[in-house]
Amino acid sequence: MRDLSIYIHIPFCARKCLYCDFLSFAASAAEMKSYVNYLTQEIKGQSIFYRDHSVISVFLGGGTPSLLPAGETGRILEAVRENYRMTEGAEVTLECNPGTVTAEKLTSYITYGINRLSIGLQSTQNEELARIGRIHDYETFLETYRMARTAGFGNINIDLMAALPGQSISSYRKSLERVTALEPEHISAYSLILEEGTVLFDRKEQYHFPTEEEDREMYQMTKEFLGERGYQRYEISNYARDGYACRHNQVYWQRGDYAGFGLGASSMVWDVRWRIPETMAQYKDYVENMQKSMETDIDFMAFAPWLENQRDLRWRERQILSIKEQMEEYMFLGLRMMCGVDSRAFYDIFGRQMEEVYGPVIEKLMSQSLIEKEEGRLKLTDTGIDVSNYVMSRFLLY
Ligand code: SF4
Repeated sequence: MRDLSIYIHIPFCARKCLYCDFLSFAASAAEMKSYVNYLTQEIKGQSIFYRDHSVISVFLGGGTPSLLPAGETGRILEAVRENYRMTEGAEVTLECNPGTVTAEKLTSYITYGINRLSIGLQSTQNEELARIGRIHDYETFLETYRMARTAGFGNINIDLMAALPGQSISSYRKSLERVTALEPEHISAYSLILEEGTVLFDRKEQYHFPTEEEDREMYQMTKEFLGERGYQRYEISNYARDGYACRHNQVYWQRGDYAGFGLGASSMVWDVRWRIPETMAQYKDYVENMQKSMETDIDFMAFAPWLENQRDLRWRERQILSIKEQMEEYMFLGLRMMCGVDSRAFYDIFGRQMEEVYGPVIEKLMSQSLIEKEEGRLKLTDTGIDVSNYVMSRFLLY
């Protein structure tokens, strides 16, 4: 039996944030219902491929999953529970935007087995939130957070962002102070990346962004501030109280099997990666075809995306990863985690010593004090984290 993590994409948002390049858009209640109909068919239909797996985590991400009416969320999770083997105590996370839930909706989430809430706050400064086009203010977030605690959520993540337009070192510090005072179990803190094609990118001349030095200072401050308050940094941008590291995200970094359902979702199972179509018309066509083949094709397993002779060519960007690519990913995803990569596990997976494959690279990076070895694990040093993209690129095998 192999572990499986399930990601479910809910592509709906009340309004597009100005920096957002995720697959998300506004939709009517009828469109949401229709999407959930297809999604539950997909989840059910695909389950035949995962009979050798047991589910250790489910993540409803988006978009804004909390925008769905509670009953629709219930239908999705019911489809998962009825068709997959869930492990005892599986982590079930839902991403939630402030102001999109009521006390009743949060209580329903608990009854559906959702045991982790991830709230997208980004900043506690209302003018910063307005500048990036968030739909909520700080006060609305506080209400959502308190309602979530009252409903019984004992595992909450809060998302924060640094390097926002008009943000100062002191306003960022204020956000850290206010968020830690609430004592969430988990905090994710990312720097804003201006993506081409977003409104904020097009308007970038109109705003004053923190300088690179200020961005660095915010980054250092995050590390120290959260560390002093009992949050362990377990990944470059993720901090948690003891025992609350996000299991689902760790699966990505450890290259575990994950199945993505819904519009544009990515999967990687048995070292094959693929994506679901990105337009609603393509998505519906893909689900309908899957349904049809289930009813008519006795050899439905031949549609499993990871089989070499699989017959459904609609999987997007389907890629069977070579051993070389698997090793590269193992290194640069694993190095994102503060615990680093385990050289014994590397040998167990690939049948070769890490030093045999990466000897000169490891030696060079160690001599530059960018990585270090500790009890058989290779980790980034503090300086290495600062230039992590460079370090990770050194593990590409040509
Ligand atoms: S809430 Fe998230 S997914 Fe939706 S528009 Fe904003 S950043 Fe994008």
